[in-house]
Amino acid sequence: MAKENIKEDSSLKQIVSLAKRRGFVFGGSEIYGGLSNTFDYGPQGIEILLNLKKLWWQYFVHKRDDVLGLDSSILLHPKVWEASGHVSNFNDPLMDCKSCRSRFRVDKFLEDKKGENFCVGKSLDEMTQIILEENYKCPNCGSEKTFTPARQFNLMFKTSHGASEEDATEIYLRPETAQGIFINFKNVSQISRRKIPFGIAQIGKSFRNEIMARQFIFRTREFEQMEMEFFCEPGTQGKWFSHWVDYCMTWLINVVGLKPDSIRIRDHDPEELSHYSDKTSDIEFKYPFGWGELWGIASRTDFDLTQHEKFSGEDLKYIDQENKKKFLPYVVEPALGLNRLFLAVLADAYEEEKLEDGDIRTVLHLHPKVAPVKIGIFPLMKKDGLAEKAKEIYDSLSEHWYCEYDEGGAIGKRYRRQDEIGTPFCITIDYNTMEDNTVTVRERDTMNQDRIPVTSLKSYFIEKL
Ligand code: ATP
Repeated sequence: MAKENIKEDSSLKQIVSLAKRRGFVFGGSEIYGGLSNTFDYGPQGIEILLNLKKLWWQYFVHKRDDVLGLDSSILLHPKVWEASGHVSNFNDPLMDCKSCRSRFRVDKFLEDKKGENFCVGKSLDEMTQIILEENYKCPNCGSEKTFTPARQFNLMFKTSHGASEEDATEIYLRPETAQGIFINFKNVSQISRRKIPFGIAQIGKSFRNEIMARQFIFRTREFEQMEMEFFCEPGTQGKWFSHWVDYCMTWLINVVGLKPDSIRIRDHDPEELSHYSDKTSDIEFKYPFGWGELWGIASRTDFDLTQHEKFSGEDLKYIDQENKKKFLPYVVEPALGLNRLFLAVLADAYEEEKLEDGDIRTVLHLHPKVAPVKIGIFPLMKKDGLAEKAKEIYDSLSEHWYCEYDEGGAIGKRYRRQDEIGTPFCITIDYNTMEDNTVTVRERDTMNQDRIPVTSLKSYFIEKL
C-alpha cells in the first residue's frame, strides 16, 4: 500500500500514550496514586533496555581489546564524594515561590526566557536580581515578586548505612557510575596487566535529586548510565577525545539506527566546562520538545585520580615498565543515559502513516536489533490445524529470536499491534500452508508480503535479522 508521512515531529504526548498502551513504560506506583517522576518499564520496555545495553556492551567492551568491564557498588564510601567534588560542587541553584511553594531551577527558568547559556558564570545573587528586576511571575501560580533568594541545592540522595540508628553513617546513593570506576582503577590495571591506554566500562543505576525532573523519562531521579573511563597518557587525551566522539556517533547511527539528522555534536564553551574538564562535547538528540543532551563526552584530565590519591592516601599512579615512567593517567569519558537513549529511540522510530485506504497506522521503525519482539506469528484461524502448525513454527523460531504468538482477532489488527511495538516481521499461517508448507512473511516498514517455505524460515531470518 502506498503511504505518506503525515507527522514529521511526533509529539511527546503521543509517545507517552503509546508507551503506556503497548507496555513500554508505566507510571511508577500507579495503584497507590503514583509516585511523581518514577517509571516502570513494561514487557516491551525491558526488552528494549536489555537490547540497548547488550549492543553497547558488545561495541564498547567485547569488540575492543582495550576496554574491560566492571560492576561497582551503588553505595560507596562517603569520602569518594568529597574527593570527587560532589559534596561541594554537585549543586543546582533553586528558588521557591512563597505563594504556591513550587520549586524552580533558577538557571533553567532564566534560560527559558533569555536563551541558552544565559546563566553561565552568573552568581546566585545576580540571578535573583535579574528575576526581581524583570518582574517575572511564578510560572505555576502567576504571583509576582514572591520568590525566595536563589540558593544552592545538593543533588545527592542521602541514606544511612548501618543496622541501628546510633551506629548508622550518612552515605549517598551514587549520582554517577564513574567514581566506582576510578576507585577500582588500581585493581583492574593490576589484575588485567593492561598497558595504558585502556578503558573500564560499567552499566548501572544512578540517582540525582533533580529539582525539575520532567519531560517523561528524559530527566528522572533514578536512571541508568552506561559509562566508560578511558585512561591514557597525558598529552594524548585530545586524540582519544576525537576518537570517542566519532565512535559514539557511529554506534548511534550504524548500530542503534538513529537518523543522522536527529543527532548533532555541541562543544561546550570554555566557561561552561565542569571544574574537572579541559574539553567536553555533548551529543544532542532532537527530542519532541527540542534539542537536548543525550551523551556527554568529557576529557576529565587527571582530576579524579589525583583527588582519590589525595583523599585515600593510595598511590594510584601507573607505571610504564617499557619507558620507566610513572604517572597519573588522563581520562576521556563517554557517559550515556540509557533512559534518555530509550526515549530518543522511541521518538526517532515513531511514525503515523496515512495509508492508501485512508487508514492511519502507527508504526515504530525500530532497528531489528533494538525491537523488543523480532517476529510475530499468527495462525489465520485457530481451527483446522492452523494453530498447531503456527505453534510448531513458534517453537522452532523462538529458540533463536524473541517471537510473539497471537491467535486472537482479525489479522489486520494483529499486524497493527505488532507495528506499534516495532516488530520487524510477521508470519501468517493459512490454508495454503497446510498444502504447500509455505507461509506469508510481512515486512513492517514496506508492508510487503512474501511467500516463504517453512523449511527456509530460519535462513531467511538469519539474513534479515
Ligand atoms: P543534564 O545537563 O541534562 O542534567 P548532565 O550533563 O548533568 O545532564 P552527565 O552528568 O554528563 O549529565 O551524565 C551523563 C548522561 O547521563 C547524560 O548525558 C544523560 O544522558 C544521563 N543523565 C544525566 N542526568 C539524568 C537524569 N536526571 N535523568 C536521566 N538521564 C540522565
